[in-house]
This record gives sequence, structure tokens and C-alpha cells, in this order.
Amino acid sequence: MEKACDVCGAIFDATKNAKRCSPECRKDASRTLNRKSAREYRAAHREEVLESKRQYRAAHRKERAEYNRKYYAAHSAEIVERRREYRAAHREEIAERRRQYRAAHREEIAEYNRKYYARMDEESSLMMLQAALRALAEHRKATA
Ligand SMILES: [Zn+2]
Repeated sequence: MEKACDVCGAIFDATKNAKRCSPECRKDASRTLNRKSAREYRAAHREEVLESKRQYRAAHRKERAEYNRKYYAAHSAEIVERRREYRAAHREEIAERRRQYRAAHREEIAEYNRKYYARMDEESSLMMLQAALRALAEHRKATA
């Protein structure tokens, strides 16, 4: 009996109640069905799925950190290169995202900068004070 494959539409000679023309189309159909049901499951059990992901991450925190550490150590040159390529290819987008971020976080950024410069001021005052104290000690040693 001739039939149209319900995946690719090809006409094939169907034995019994076959709906797909080839093993490839059968696999393709079951993959599609699996994806669809996984998607539906996730949509219907959103909170449970998120919670189980959270639990998994919490239970495997150390292994995951260790895995990431090893991965970065083994692939650092590639990663640096990939990031450089990404930045070069997406220069405009990145600049635009940065502009949007800055516009949306103006206050926070100003506050962060204020704290940063206050800390730098303190640190440089401290360094100047230490330098003055060292100079004074040198002076005392020289004139003692
Ligand atoms: Zn087919």
C-alpha cells in the first residue's frame, strides 16, 4: 500500500500500519516526539524542574567547581582566543549592551565609583604616610 511518509512526505510502500518511510524518518519522528514531550513536561513542572536543578547543583558544587577549574586550566588558551574572537565579531552589540546597562544602572555605578575612589584615596593617603614615615626613619638613622 502506497502512503506518504508523515515525516518527509515521500511516497513509500507501507507494510501494515507503517507511517514513516525509513529508519531515519522513524528516528527523526521519535526524536521530535521526545523533544516535544520533554518541553511539555518542563512547562508543566516548571517549579519542580528548577528545584531539582538547584538541588543537583547544591549537591555537586565541589565536583562542578573542580571540573570547571580543570577545564579552564586545560583550555585557557582556546577560551581566551574564543572570547577575543567573540568580542571582535560583536563589537557593536557589546558596546550597545554596555550603554544600556550603564543607562539602567546609573545610580549604582556612581555609588560604586564613589566608594572605589574613596578607597583609593585612603590607600594612597596611607601609602604617602608610610613613605613619609620611612623617610623620617631614614633621616633619623642618618642623623643619629
Ligand atoms: Zn520519510
